[in-house]
Amino acid sequence: MKCSKDNPMKKVTLNCSICKEKIDEQITKNTNIVYWTEGHNAEPINAGRCCDICNDTIVIAKRIEIMGMEDEEGIMQAYDEYLEMKHEDK
Ligand SMILES: [Zn+2]
Repeated sequence: MKCSKDNPMKKVTLNCSICKEKIDEQITKNTNIVYWTEGHNAEPINAGRCCDICNDTIVIAKRIEIMGMEDEEGIMQAYDEYLEMKHEDK
């Protein structure tokens, strides 16, 4: 007989849309509460979500590359957006 108790802490586990690995859960160090499971916006690579590693490498590099086609201010803007995004995620 299958025990079908509901899990009150049920979470959606997402996979990175770039490397297909599981997106790490962000857990507060003091309380061990999962506060974020959705990784990062993978644009402009794709419209999905991505893990920390892909975000910090592939996505940011692509954004800087795109901005870099314009001018040096574009790169600074990309970095600003990067830092803002980091804040939002924390
Ligand atoms: Zn990834």
